[in-house]
Amino acid sequence: MPDENFYTDCPDLKFIMEQMVDWKSIIDLKAEIGSENSPFESAEEATAAYLDMLADPVGKIAAQRIAPRAEEVDTIGCRLVDGDVVFPEGLQRNLKDLKDAQLMGLTIGTQYGGLNFPETFYTAAIEIVSRADASLMNFFGLQGGIAETIAHFGSDELKERYLPGMAAGDLTGAMALTEPDAGSDLANVQTKAGGIEAVQDASGVWRINGTKRFITNGCGDVILVLARSENPDKYSGGRGLSFFLVEKGDHVTVRRIENKLGIHGSPTCELYFDNAPGYLIGKRGAGLARYTTWLMLAARLAVAAQAQGISEAAIKAAYKYADEREQFGKPIRDFAQVAALLLNMEVYSEASRAMLYATCQIVDLHQGAEKMGLAAEKKKYGRLADALTPMTKYYATELCNKIAYDSIQIHGGNGFMREYPVERLYRDARITNIYEGTSQIQINWSALRILKGELNAFFDEMAAHPFSDPDLLPMVEKARAARATLAEVIAALNEKETEHRDWAAPHLVDIAIDVMVSFLFLQQAEKWDYKKKVARKFIADMGPRVAMNREYAMTVEPMRLGA
Ligand SMILES: Cc1cc2nc3c(=O)[nH]c(=O)nc-3n(C[C@H](O)[C@H](O)[C@H](O)COP(=O)(O)OP(=O)(O)OC[C@H]3O[C@@H](n4cnc5c(N)ncnc54)[C@H](O)[C@@H]3O)c2cc1C
Repeated sequence: MPDENFYTDCPDLKFIMEQMVDWKSIIDLKAEIGSENSPFESAEEATAAYLDMLADPVGKIAAQRIAPRAEEVDTIGCRLVDGDVVFPEGLQRNLKDLKDAQLMGLTIGTQYGGLNFPETFYTAAIEIVSRADASLMNFFGLQGGIAETIAHFGSDELKERYLPGMAAGDLTGAMALTEPDAGSDLANVQTKAGGIEAVQDASGVWRINGTKRFITNGCGDVILVLARSENPDKYSGGRGLSFFLVEKGDHVTVRRIENKLGIHGSPTCELYFDNAPGYLIGKRGAGLARYTTWLMLAARLAVAAQAQGISEAAIKAAYKYADEREQFGKPIRDFAQVAALLLNMEVYSEASRAMLYATCQIVDLHQGAEKMGLAAEKKKYGRLADALTPMTKYYATELCNKIAYDSIQIHGGNGFMREYPVERLYRDARITNIYEGTSQIQINWSALRILKGELNAFFDEMAAHPFSDPDLLPMVEKARAARATLAEVIAALNEKETEHRDWAAPHLVDIAIDVMVSFLFLQQAEKWDYKKKVARKFIADMGPRVAMNREYAMTVEPMRLGA
């Protein structure tokens, strides 16, 4: 369609970008207005430019160029031919379109040819691009995290050598963490298990040897590799791991690419490093605790945005089909059960979007506080970002699977057929709650922080907001009651054995998410009447759900059946 636009046709995303995001606070900390690192003269000018760019070029390119190629990219997929990964033509064109529109270096500093834009903007762009083709996010969304890791922790020499090429879209990146025996448990990256060995040779260049698997865009030019650099007898587990930059070249072989369920436009490679020269990023021994964790937090937000984009695509497809398809003499949309599916899809997609962008803002404020040397703010926002990012990734990706599933249901038998896009969306959705840490890993990570009380002040602040609209007050009361239940569950679980806490963790995290989303919806409802209905539905669902999760969390009985 000539005038289709994936930003302007999504009222909820537009509303959040235009009315809920506190751009001024982010810009004041991050954008370096008035310096040579900013093309803008004021926060207002920067905000207007961000919002314009979401519509054009991002929303326009996504709708008019990337989306029409998605089926072809999915059908043809990536192939390994004589050791080289060959991209389908549609993917090559997509990458060229993003590069020509100067969208590949959104968050990279202007001194390297990037735009120095905030994460919140970048995340919205990732959502929009992923709605058009989820597999493309693995270039567009991964690129930023890799470049930012180099920018944050790499030497000046590495920054100057690689960042301009990445900002221009001439170089793409990969992150190589996973090994055959080290997936969720990355502290287990080790040579004797067939992993990677890094040995510093006499010239000071490190040599990387070993195998990494499941590496997205492993054929990329700049590969960040987690490798064991320290003597395991002295530094066991994660303490012995460092982070390296390895350039694509003769010493790095793509041994195979995976034949997989979804995201066919993203090559998943097995890499073999044979004495490959590697450049140390940051400090020895901090590879897992510091740099991988930092990169994964960025990547988790990107995957949450990828899921959000898939959800939006699935909802749009479901509405279109439910309007057009008639049974029993009327559009299927008129049947209560179909209407209820559509309602749930919309409300919960808006729930995960509310959480996603609230988290992005905190990530931006954290990075900005770090940039400005504001120690207290950096600590405060850093802790929040650490707890909220995994919650957001878990929530957005689980919901996206449910939404894609329900979209197929609304399509009936047609939804099962390749002729309709929901079949691809359903397959693409399935990876989002696995990579960058499975949902179980996100739950472990966030439950630990919730139990330590790291979100207490944040939730108290939300609950203390002086809501005055009489329409909202009964809902505010229910949200505050859920906040009180969360406090009760945290206190009770802190008294329990570790095993009980582990079994209760998903229920605890689900209560925390319900509390956060309910207050976010109430804040939204102060600015947009439509959101009063959304909040009413969400909070009505939330009451029994929180009660159920409280009960499970308090009384769960660890139990194992089967052989
Ligand atoms: C398409 C694709 C692309 C990928 N891209 C990359 C990439 O670019 N770079 C990269 O380094 N890796 C990449 N990966 C790897 C991905 O991050 C891992 O597959 C993922 O982290 C899970 O690891 P695993 O597959 O080894 O599963 P495992 O760790 O073996 O997990 C198996 C199951 O056990 C559960 N489990 C494990 N530990 C715990 C625990 N402590 N508590 C509760 N449950 C637990 C998991 O949740 C899961 O359900 C990719 C994977 C795929 C499929």
